Amino acid sequence: MAMNIACAYPNCTNPVIGQCVGYKEQCGRYYCVQHSDGKLCIECATRKTGSEKAQIARQENTDIVRKVQADALRATLDRRLLVASSLFVLMFVAGFILAEGFKMQALGGVLLLGGVVGLMVCYIVWVILRHNYVNRNLNDLEKTRTGLVDFFHNEETEKQKQVATGCLSIIGIALLGVVASAATQSREEQDEERIRRALDDELKRHNL
Ligand SMILES: [Zn+2]
Ligand SMILES: [Zn+2]
Repeated sequence: MAMNIACAYPNCTNPVIGQCVGYKEQCGRYYCVQHSDGKLCIECATRKTGSEKAQIARQENTDIVRKVQADALRATLDRRLLVASSLFVLMFVAGFILAEGFKMQALGGVLLLGGVVGLMVCYIVWVILRHNYVNRNLNDLEKTRTGLVDFFHNEETEKQKQVATGCLSIIGIALLGVVASAATQSREEQDEERIRRALDDELKRHNL
């Protein structure tokens, strides 16, 4: 190595043994044997280790959350809820048959409505139960694994954002479709108008 290059570590006078290839970005700092790890300077090596550790922690958190959610699904779909939902489905079907087949609109309507409302209540109860189960378990796990609950909430927020963006883009596409079809329609109208005028002119000329 040339005499005028030194290890990038402050005040290090060890002989330079290489130049850093950089981790995820350009580096090019010179390093000595003490302030390097493989082909990286000590700074880049530290950054690499940190980001690998974070990556592993993220993956572990994801696995834990998935497991808790799967457990929640099993734990909260209890028999009472399933029986109640089945009864409401039966109510709905019975209401439909009575209203259509036996022309008992009033009774059928009440049963139909009751069935739908009942199912909605069952669903809301289940969502609350599941939500509580997940929160309770994650809070327990947080005691031995700091940051898990924050990770979960960030993930949920991210998911909600994605859903919102998805909805917005669907609305956007629908609006574009409406605008485009309106534009096509007005162009068609213009074309029709032009043809009509041309025909009129032609007819007038023949009448003359
Ligand atoms: Zn050094
Ligand atoms: Zn470096």
